[in-house]
Amino acid sequence: MELKVIPLPEENRKARFIDESKLGFGRIFTDRMLLVEWKADKGWGDARIEPYGPFVLDPSCLVFHYAQEIFEGLKAYKWADGSIALFRPEMNARRFNRSADRLCMPELPEDFFVEGIAELVRLEKHWVPGSEGTSLYIRPTMIAVEPVLGVKSSDHYYYYVILSPVGAYYAAGFNPTRILVEDRYVRAAPGGTGEAKTGGNYASSLKAAQEAKKKGYDQVLWLDGVHHRHVEEVGSMNMFFAYEDCVVTAPLSGSILSGVTRDCVMKLSDMLGFRVEERAIEIEQLMLDIREGKVKEAFGSGTAAVITPVGTLGFKGEDYTVGNGGVGSLTNRLYDTLTGIQYGRIPDPFGWVRKIA
Ligand SMILES: *Cc1c(COP(=O)(O)O)cnc(C)c1O
Repeated sequence: MELKVIPLPEENRKARFIDESKLGFGRIFTDRMLLVEWKADKGWGDARIEPYGPFVLDPSCLVFHYAQEIFEGLKAYKWADGSIALFRPEMNARRFNRSADRLCMPELPEDFFVEGIAELVRLEKHWVPGSEGTSLYIRPTMIAVEPVLGVKSSDHYYYYVILSPVGAYYAAGFNPTRILVEDRYVRAAPGGTGEAKTGGNYASSLKAAQEAKKKGYDQVLWLDGVHHRHVEEVGSMNMFFAYEDCVVTAPLSGSILSGVTRDCVMKLSDMLGFRVEERAIEIEQLMLDIREGKVKEAFGSGTAAVITPVGTLGFKGEDYTVGNGGVGSLTNRLYDTLTGIQYGRIPDPFGWVRKIA
């Protein structure tokens, strides 16, 4: 696959943001994007890095009706010396192809996934913000663009990558969140698409999130889709519960997303002297353990939210405070270690960082 760079006309150059404290998440996009088309009879075409702009798509395109879509999320970080690094992008490449397989979409060569992103970010590197906690969020996406209403897998796709400078997730401080244990709605069932990063999983989660917000919670904790008995994950984060000497997280059962940050947290917890247990977490037992003070800390992990402390879990009409309701010491250490590696402040013992500029 060749990668062509289309010149950027002067009028397409947007004014770069000035106040990095007001970036928010995913509202501003850079000047260029990467686009490649796949057609059933030709396979992947040549990739183009071109001016960022809208697509003109037929209203009948399959993605609009049957949600044949997958995406990824990763970040580029600016270091103090001005260099730019990606973080474990090969993990996103592999997961993208697993999602593609589940949604009957074509796989992308993994080295192209990484190299295409690296080249795009290099061209847009002046868009990577530099203040504490900020980064350039990278959103690779694939959509089905065949114009037909019959239910089938498309014979025409767009793979594209857009970039968004994003603010510190914790602009208002590292505050514990309130999470509602969802015991009615379901995110994903065994055999479903829970393990794929696909838009449909999010569309079906909106109702529960909206109702939880009304009740004063930030997000919901999903339980398994059959018995509503075992902990799965939260929104776009995997969940961890820290006991005295061990850290527990749900196993990759097929209905939860295999987070890159989840994998990092397991390796870092081990490094920090905690035993890591991937096991079924029974909700009644977990709430009892929280009530009895055995669960010291709870937090979520994800690329966008990094490490998010959970201070309260709402369950069957009652609020349960985790630990003292504040941010625990392991949560803090994991946040500092993970972001320390991502921003090049501390050595990277795992080979996770990939410098691109
Ligand atoms: C993306 C995502 C995560 C987090 O994965 P990371 O690779 O750590 O960013 C967790 N759960 C869901 C449902 C997701 O879509």
